[in-house]
Amino acid sequence: METRRDFLRTTLITTAAASVSEAARAAPARIPSTDRMGILVDTTACVGCRSCEAACKRAHDYPNEPTADNSTIPARRRPGHDSLTVVNEYPGPERPPRPTYVKVQCMHCDFPGCESACIVGAISKKESGPVLWDGDKCIGCRYCMVACPFQIPSFEYEKALKPEIEKCDFCIRRIDDGNVPACVEVCPMEALAYGRRASLIEVAREKIRNNPDRYNDHIYGEFEAGGTSWMYLAKAEFKELEFPELGRDPMPGTSESIQHGIFAYFVPPVSLYALLGGLMWITKKRKEAEEMAE
Ligand code: SF4
Ligand code: SF4
Ligand code: SF4
Repeated sequence: METRRDFLRTTLITTAAASVSEAARAAPARIPSTDRMGILVDTTACVGCRSCEAACKRAHDYPNEPTADNSTIPARRRPGHDSLTVVNEYPGPERPPRPTYVKVQCMHCDFPGCESACIVGAISKKESGPVLWDGDKCIGCRYCMVACPFQIPSFEYEKALKPEIEKCDFCIRRIDDGNVPACVEVCPMEALAYGRRASLIEVAREKIRNNPDRYNDHIYGEFEAGGTSWMYLAKAEFKELEFPELGRDPMPGTSESIQHGIFAYFVPPVSLYALLGGLMWITKKRKEAEEMAE
């Protein structure tokens, strides 16, 4: 039975969550730092060795590093709770065809749909570029999964009591220690470049200018969904490599338009989300307390 204390807590959480959600919804108005960092992926240099997958797992203490057996590489895998990044293979545009390999992970959007959708502020875009998840705030509602245009956040269903959203964290601990991300450091082909996003765009433009036969004249991520910290070069059209075709508008604006359309004649979405968030937070805390008491 719900106690008066629970009721008061729900009310407080509802109010706090509404404030947090309002702040997050204002995110598109924020101007990202011009010094923010990014990564440029040159798919024309990638040989599909998957060393980046292995290095990422090592850096995050994940088991089951990929082996030399690359038979799964054409399988169109997605990042998940056992691997924050995966490399997939596509038929290349050359004749005879040479495969194109595409490393997939969180794009660290400049205006993240996941951040905007999170009702408790558990995901945030840092001034320096990374989009990070905070397990202490997360209530496991999974709105971030729905809001991501790249289908990146994954949910550890096995950990029902303390679920975790998994996604690339830009190797924030390594960066804070003055290192580059693990995947960048290990890549033997220098297909991954870490640096100021603005400088990477200049590098990418120069590559395209100097090698028009090698590159499609498109830096994916420069403008898509308002811009992303990870950007890509390729010879093929990006839609042939299964990159989503996104406009230049930040995704939070899009998701909010949809939410407002759905709820226009119902309950304001912020209030509904906040209420659900408060209830889910209480349920999570109760389960944690029960688990600790066992
Ligand atoms: S380590 Fe470099 S070359 Fe190897 S799969 Fe990853 S991005 Fe491609
Ligand atoms: S930046 Fe770090 S967490 Fe992200 S894919 Fe590379 S190694 Fe993995
Ligand atoms: S790619 Fe998805 S999970 Fe990553 S920052 Fe963008 S919206 Fe968030």
